[in-house]
This record gives sequence, structure tokens and C-alpha cells, in this order.
Amino acid sequence: MAAELPELFIKNMKELLGGEYEAFWESGQSAGFRGLRVNTSKIEAEKFEEISPFPLKRVPWISNGFYLETHTQASAHPYYAAGLYYLQEPSAMTPAACLPVEEGDRVLDLCAAPGGKATELAARLKGTGLLVANDISRSRAKGLLKNLELFGAGNILVTSERPERLASYFTGFFDKILIDAPCSGEGMFRKDPSMVRDWTEHGPDWYASVQRELIEQAAGMLRPGGMLLYSTCTFSPQENEGTIAHLLKKDSSFRMCRLPDYKGFSSGRPDCLSEEAKGLSGDIFQQLKGCVRIYPHRMKGEGHFLALLQKEDAVTDRKAPQKAAKSFASKKNAAVCPEWEQFAKELGISIPPESLRLYDGKLYSLPKDLWNRSIRGLRFLRTGLYLGEAAKKRFTPSQALAMALGKDTCNAWVDFPSSDSRVIRYLKGESPELTESDSASREAGWCLVCADGFSLGWGKLVNGQLRNKYYPGWRWQHAIG
Ligand code: SAM
Repeated sequence: MAAELPELFIKNMKELLGGEYEAFWESGQSAGFRGLRVNTSKIEAEKFEEISPFPLKRVPWISNGFYLETHTQASAHPYYAAGLYYLQEPSAMTPAACLPVEEGDRVLDLCAAPGGKATELAARLKGTGLLVANDISRSRAKGLLKNLELFGAGNILVTSERPERLASYFTGFFDKILIDAPCSGEGMFRKDPSMVRDWTEHGPDWYASVQRELIEQAAGMLRPGGMLLYSTCTFSPQENEGTIAHLLKKDSSFRMCRLPDYKGFSSGRPDCLSEEAKGLSGDIFQQLKGCVRIYPHRMKGEGHFLALLQKEDAVTDRKAPQKAAKSFASKKNAAVCPEWEQFAKELGISIPPESLRLYDGKLYSLPKDLWNRSIRGLRFLRTGLYLGEAAKKRFTPSQALAMALGKDTCNAWVDFPSSDSRVIRYLKGESPELTESDSASREAGWCLVCADGFSLGWGKLVNGQLRNKYYPGWRWQHAIG
């Protein structure tokens, strides 16, 4: 680790690791691990492995996770712009992989920006159910929205709210909740030495109180029988087992669940909790051993903590809709947006008409769970899939729509090989020339611009030429190509 470690941190780690501390310290002297997680809503991990333009090695405990070599520029490949993967340190892939999300679930990611876990949760939902992705920081929530849209996720509500405000709208609503809590970041010291300085300003004491507040609010938003996964990228028992102990003591309807076994995973360490927390009941103490710790000297990941909890299922009607709140949606639908109807018909795009809502000329497709739910007053950045804008009798499709479609769900496209330099030029905002040998499904009008069949954005064919309609805010700055 490049930066000097705080003495108190060293003392705590020695207490936690005993004779293994040296190995832990040694592991921090080498370069960290870099990884890539495949977006399985767009391509299967095995398929991606076959077409990957750079060398990959599997992350043994993550079915769609791979290690990257140190100098691989994976964010400079068109597949990145097609949303085929997210770049993520391998141990950070674990929380979303361990929350058993099923299609149709209502899922909350409470501290979601920039979307490392939310994108995986969205991929697992495969366009069904609802993902509410929240982050208190509005600027970070903007990055979160971009990443979710890049992944092609449309069943989303992206908010930037304080947890207690969210809780007042979504009491007992979610099937699954992920809290990837803000923490003192001890597992990030190697990757980001500035975390060491932050640690001295806001260490475990400070974060522990934030985390207790977060887990209490999240608990209230979980339905009976629902599951909550709490994770951090720190080693501090106070922030980890201590936060879980706080919930178990406060709310007896929660029980720890078994996490999947992997040979590098280490168990929870309730024995390292401070004096104050030592008055735990034997039952809670035992349960806390079921937490999972990832250490960089035991497996190839920077470090993480995870705990999976379930709320007792006292109620039998599992997914019964809550009493309908005042309708969030206006009654306007596709019938009042003929521009969309015309556009969708021409391009063969099928979106359930009852999901459509029009606000000031902007058209959205809302996930069913939001049709009858009032979110008025919540600070949100996106509701559902933004389809585009209707104005002057024309429909202009959005970048988010392009990312949610593919050659199988839209009959208008131009497809380049990903190695064709015109792809990078397109991503930079240029309008690349077309030749007769190019693969295109039509001669005029809107079309998806694809690389190896994966959608990148929109273009418009006019007189045999392709006009660039890639969203200007997403244009590539990379100096390659
Ligand atoms: N889950 C994210 C990912 O995988 O990309 C990383 C989340 S990061 C560890 C913690 C996040 O919590 C930060 O983005 C921070 O802005 C947010 N945060 C801090 N306090 C919060 C609060 N009280 N409510 C919601 N989010 C909060």
C-alpha cells in the first residue's frame, strides 16, 4: 500500500487477523485486482468469453465475473459503449451476486451510485419487476442513471433521497434490499490511497452511526419474508458485525441467512466487537458468525464484508399489491402520442401501451409496480424507460431506448464490425460514410447503430448517408480510433 497506514487501523487489523497480519500487509504491496462483470441481460458470460477482445480469467466465485490484465483498456472498446460489461473490482461483485434476486421482484439498492451493484441487480431482473436505485448524492446519482441506461435497464426508478424520506413512500414494499453502505473504506486503501486520509477524518465511529440509521430505515421498507443484504468495503467489526448486531437486537423479526460457501470466504467476527457490543445474546453472537469477510491475502479481491438477512414471514399474501396510493401517473397514454405509435410501428418496436405515460412531450414506459403508486414529492432522476420526445409531429428516440433495444427487438439498424474504425468515430459524434457492402436493414429513416449486432445508439439514414444521432452527453473522449 502506497500511503502510510494509520496506527489505529494497524492495531485493529492485528487484533482481527493475529498471525495472518503479515500476509495481509504483504498482499497490499502488490498491484490490486481489476475485473469485468458481464451484463447477462445482453449476453451470456460464456458467449462473451468467446468474443472477448482482451484476455480474461474467471473470478471463481462469480458466474459472470472475470479478471482483467493490468493494462487492458476495457473502457475504450465499443463493447463497453454497448453496455456489455461493467468494470468492477472482483470482491465488489459479491454482494449483488449473493442477494437472491428473482424475476418480478421489487428491489431497492439504497446506496447505489455509481451503479456497480445496481447494474447487476437490473441484469438479474431481466426487465421484470422494479429496481429502485437511490443515492443521497445527486451528482453521483446522475452517474448511476447513466450506468443503468447503458445496461439497457428500463424497469427503474432512480432517486436521490434521504432514506427516511424513501421509507415514508415504500413501507414494507420491497422483496429484496441491498445496502452497500458508505464506510471507512479500509478495503480500498490499496486501490485508492486517498481513502487513508479520509479514514483519519471519518473513521469507523463516524460511519457506524450512519450505517445503523441506514439499516433501520431499510428494515422498514422490506416486506415480511423479504431479504436484505448489507455490505461494506471495510474490515472494521464495528461497521460490519456491529451494524448487523444493532438490527438483530432492535428487530427480532430478522434472522441471518447462510451465504454461499466459497473456500476463500472467512466467517464473521463478533468476538472482535467492542465492549459495548459484547452484551450480545448467545443466539445473536452465533448468527453473526454467518457473516462473510473477504480478505485480500486469502483470495484475489480487495476486501469486502457481507451479511444476508431475512425478515420473518408473518403474512401469507407475499406479493399482494399495497393499497393503491393516489395514482402517480397521468391518464395520458399512447393514444395521445401518435408520433410514438407511428415511430414504433415503423421500427417494429413493441412496448405495452398501458405502460406509456406522456409528460410535457416526453414519453416513458413505466414498470407495472409504478402504475398506481404516487411518488409525488420524491426527488427522482428517472421513472421507467425514457423513450423519447414528441414534438412538431415527430418522435425523437432517446439514447436509453437505443440501449434497451437490440437487432431482435427493432427492425431498423446498421451493423458494423466492432473493429471497424467508423464505430469509434460514431461514438465520438462523427457521421461515418456508408458503403454498399455495409450491413443495413433499411435505406432511410431512424436506425440503431450497432457493433457486432449490439446497439450503441441512434443514427438517421438520409440519401444513403448515416447521420449521427448518438447522445451528445455520452460522446467518447478517448483518443483512440
Ligand atoms: N453500491 C455502489 C456501487 O457498487 O457502485 C457503491 C456505493 S458507495 C459504497 C456508498 C454510497 O452511499 C455513496 O455513493 C454515497 O453517496 C451514498 N450515501 C452516503 N450516505 C447515504 C445515505 N444516508 N443515504 C443514501 N446514500 C448514501
